[in-house]
Amino acid sequence: MSITPLMPVYPRCGFRPVRGEGAYLISEDGRRALDFASGIAVNLLGHGHPHLTKAIADQAATLMHVSNLYGSPQGEKFAQLLVDNTFADTVFFTNSGAEAVECAIKTARAYHQSAGSDRYEIITFKNAFHGRTMATISASNQDKMHKGFLPLLEGFKYVDFDDLEGARAAIGPKTAAFLVEPIQGEGGVRPASDSFIQGLRTLADEHGLLLIFDEVQCGVARTGKLYAYEHYGVTPDVMASAKGIGGGFPMGACLATETAARGMVVGTHGSTYGGNPLAMAAGTAVFDVILADGFMDNVTALGAKLEAALHQFIGNYPNLFTGVRGKGLMLGLMMTHETRNFVAHLRDNHGLLTVAAGDNTLRILPPLTIDQSHIDECIEKLSAGAASYEAPVA
Ligand SMILES: *Cc1c(COP(=O)(O)O)cnc(C)c1O
Repeated sequence: MSITPLMPVYPRCGFRPVRGEGAYLISEDGRRALDFASGIAVNLLGHGHPHLTKAIADQAATLMHVSNLYGSPQGEKFAQLLVDNTFADTVFFTNSGAEAVECAIKTARAYHQSAGSDRYEIITFKNAFHGRTMATISASNQDKMHKGFLPLLEGFKYVDFDDLEGARAAIGPKTAAFLVEPIQGEGGVRPASDSFIQGLRTLADEHGLLLIFDEVQCGVARTGKLYAYEHYGVTPDVMASAKGIGGGFPMGACLATETAARGMVVGTHGSTYGGNPLAMAAGTAVFDVILADGFMDNVTALGAKLEAALHQFIGNYPNLFTGVRGKGLMLGLMMTHETRNFVAHLRDNHGLLTVAAGDNTLRILPPLTIDQSHIDECIEKLSAGAASYEAPVA
């Protein structure tokens, strides 16, 4: 037998975390690393946050799971919190980001089909990442995610990201919705322009389409707003949220307006675990912290400081870096070459965890609970890493 017990679908590295303390991870062999990856934008309160861990422990001891056949005081409470603080009127809870996007896709199809229309096609954008289920890989144009898994689910059209004219031209009689990340994450921390997002809203309204935002990565206070759409002055009809929403507890949510959710009636959708009391306790605890006065302003302030420090840092290494982009504490360093080797170098030799992304971008996604000392430490480690790094010859 040569296959590993863990199905070998990930290129796992030698860093093997066994404990977390705030913004740090400690490995099996005792190495300590500054975690500016946060489980890919998940651990937004860092590791071992006392309010979150206590809420989970208390709920686990009280009631972990019941089926969605029963009334849910825990789910009603967290859904109400989301409704009160967003565009949405209603929420479906999932266990992951891909499931939240799946629910959004189904919501868009049902919106039209429940009203007697046969529209089903969804316009998505190149280099998007929406998850790894059959529908969500079909929603992305990335061939590397399709290979070996054909046939794809029908009904997706891919247009260049930030290309409003392309989006307009792609609309046809079967078009049901646009699905877009306001800030592409895996694609390389690329914020969409204001005119693109606002233009999609206008196009959707003109053509009777739903506008779906995938805020699985950029949502939940990561950019200094509860959801990134707030930066653009428009609201979606449907939105997928996950990653940070449970602070490390696996959960997601599909949010929708009452109109957009008109097809999602009894019996149309479900999930055994989705929205169980344990998940709701985690989500509610995360929101207790991020909705507290001043929390998101602090994310904005820290993001501005980190971004300024990164700009200054890259000025010393023009052979390695070409720019900084992103919003709040969702930042990307644009590199002159593929980022994976540098990410590994920072991790293995300088105790700094970051994440590689598309378009030669290195993602910096710290916990939202960091302070100035962590920013200083990140810059020190990046500087030491850049000084000791030999970029591959182009
Ligand atoms: C991570 C991600 C997903 C998929 O989330 P999973 O929890 O891995 O299923 C979907 N969309 C975006 C934008 C993401 O970053």
